[in-house]
Amino acid sequence: VLLSLIIGSSELCAQTRISSPKSIDDKVSELMSKMTLEEKVGQLNQYTGERLATGPVTANSTKYEDIKAGRVGSMLNVRGAKDTREVQALAMQSRLKIPLLFGLDVVHGYRVTFPIPLAEAASWDIPAIEGAARIAAEEASASGIHWTFAPMIDISRDPRWGRVMEGAGEDPYLGSIISSARVKGFQGKGLGTLDAIMACAKHFAAYGAALAGRDYNSVDMSERMLHEVYLPPFKAAMDAGVATFMNAFNDLNGIPATGSSYLQRDILKDSWKFPGFIVSDWGSIKEMVPHGYAKDNREAARLAIQAGSDMDMESHSYLPYLADLVKKGEVEERLIDDAVRRILTKKFEMGLFDDPYRFSNEAREKKTLNSAKNKEAARKMAEKSIVLLKNEGQILPLSKNAKKIAVIGPLGKSKEDMKGFWSVKWDDDDLVSLYEGLQKKVGAGSRIEYAMGCTISDTSRAGFADAIETAKRSDVVIMAVGETFDMSGEGNSRANIGLPGVQEELIKAIQATGKPVVVLVMAGRPLIFNWTSEHVPAIMYTWWLGSEAGHAMANVLFGDYNPAGKLPMTFPRSEGQIPLFYSYKNTGRPPLNENDRRYRSIYLDLPNTPRYAFGYGLSYTQFALSDLKLTKNSIHSSDSIVVSCTIRNTGKYAGEEVVQLYLQDMFASVTRPLKELKDFKKVMLQPGESKKLQFVINKDKLAFYDQQMNWTTEPGEFNLMLGTSSDKISLERKFQLIN
Ligand code: BGC
Repeated sequence: VLLSLIIGSSELCAQTRISSPKSIDDKVSELMSKMTLEEKVGQLNQYTGERLATGPVTANSTKYEDIKAGRVGSMLNVRGAKDTREVQALAMQSRLKIPLLFGLDVVHGYRVTFPIPLAEAASWDIPAIEGAARIAAEEASASGIHWTFAPMIDISRDPRWGRVMEGAGEDPYLGSIISSARVKGFQGKGLGTLDAIMACAKHFAAYGAALAGRDYNSVDMSERMLHEVYLPPFKAAMDAGVATFMNAFNDLNGIPATGSSYLQRDILKDSWKFPGFIVSDWGSIKEMVPHGYAKDNREAARLAIQAGSDMDMESHSYLPYLADLVKKGEVEERLIDDAVRRILTKKFEMGLFDDPYRFSNEAREKKTLNSAKNKEAARKMAEKSIVLLKNEGQILPLSKNAKKIAVIGPLGKSKEDMKGFWSVKWDDDDLVSLYEGLQKKVGAGSRIEYAMGCTISDTSRAGFADAIETAKRSDVVIMAVGETFDMSGEGNSRANIGLPGVQEELIKAIQATGKPVVVLVMAGRPLIFNWTSEHVPAIMYTWWLGSEAGHAMANVLFGDYNPAGKLPMTFPRSEGQIPLFYSYKNTGRPPLNENDRRYRSIYLDLPNTPRYAFGYGLSYTQFALSDLKLTKNSIHSSDSIVVSCTIRNTGKYAGEEVVQLYLQDMFASVTRPLKELKDFKKVMLQPGESKKLQFVINKDKLAFYDQQMNWTTEPGEFNLMLGTSSDKISLERKFQLIN
């Protein structure tokens, strides 16, 4: 009876399947059977719409003509419900009425700007990071956007590289968790839901390792480094269901990423079985010509499609040449078909064939954008992103009774810079400067005076005297120094990453007044400010915090939010130390002293410790870790160990702490780093409160690539470390892995 029931129900399933509506795959096949080769190539073509936005859609533009003729698959930089609707209407004039995909760099917010991604990474607050991407998607999708070119998940260990601001820092574990959270945030409940936009994992791959930190530069790295450090965040994005990937400008081991079959086909499409599509980076197909890899644009088109680049972003390489390449037998048509299938599948999944205008809804746009709820989320995210670097003599939090406050420095009243690079521009942006945030916070009873002191980059000290007088008239000085937003981001590498101009001299002059000084550093990368680090009692790293920057900084300064950020990147003492990161390996030289496990590899003129370590960040309260317990002292590779410890808030403020778990594989068939982050937990504790934390160690956390590059475990000893920074380990224990 049971058997017949089972058979019966599976027959029923089969019947339902037969009578069910066509699968997306079938719909794509049916559509493709009607397409000419030229129309197929059109789907692989993406244009920017910047120039379209200025004129009416009826203007005589070849791009408009191309859209109407079915020669465009996607537009980037067209945004807003009205504009996307108008441009989509052009696609509806084409023979097959295939809708356009509208893409945009929605990197850290859309209408409401969230902190730059590196700042958000400093929160180590994964639900908040996912939430920020969710809000960006809600806003962008209401504005006609289908697709964001984010998250940027390039690991980087070189703060000279301007694009560190877009990523999650130096660590593959933290980077992977954040990558996954951002993809989930953007894609929400899944493609096809009205507030989900397609995410794009970029830049594939190893773009963050540009030689000498100069943007676009060559990358040469071992397979081991590529797989251990640079690829994990991409695999995490893939596992989180990311819809698209973007390739990269750099060449990797002699082959431009855009022309690399190894990256795009062998790894991504064949080994990982990525079902989505790959868009080129802007012009990266034709850039293979100056790379010296393709002799002309036509050959660049051939190399890119053969290597697996599905869509051409503004290279103008595919549209003019691909059909001809197929006709002359130089490119197999099945490669075009595969790329078209991948792109059309996403258009179906997004529901664009049901209604090409479904995201271009002005009423929803009006309701969703810039809401009080979204601003509040941006402010909270900004608070979480701030890292307290120093607080000697407990200057912070400031007393609410402070009557005379001086704000000094070139960024004290800046608004535009607060948004950071890769933010979406608006005519009527309401951005909150530090000065405004403080004014709102302290109310009428206090006086806030501002003096600029100097600009960011010129060398005039003419404003120092006024700044000094302003400081002298105050009870406390808050200094706002750092970079303008366009000193980091794409193309903005810097060889010297100190505070630009005479800003550190201004800090010295103000510190010399004897007034209590708090320095806020606003920047898109780790900067070097050694004098300030050594002499100024209180320092906060605020990065670029977005629309609500001023409110967030004021809340933290006055203790309405207790800072809990932790650095996602090592801060060096000198450019000469770069690349500097926490997960380095031992040399064979004897340690400097008995208790020091850091085997020798030193400069004559500098220690090899950083100024501020990965994972570092203070709170207004203090925490203590104790009671380390492991459920076992040895583990089989199929098994797991539960690690527990107690954390106690021993100070007088409520606050959050990030407990970080690091592992060291003591001996292996390949050399291993002294410390690798493998887990972390962020917890909130009231003064005097304790909590027990648990972590699970399993095979995944113990595996590595062996000499043949197989992902494997080997028996042996591991050292487990728990701490509140990579350089502040409070608890340690050894355990054995028995394979
Ligand atoms: C950047 C990409 C970006 C694209 C579109 C390129 O220059 O490298 O990250 O998505 O432009 O704006």
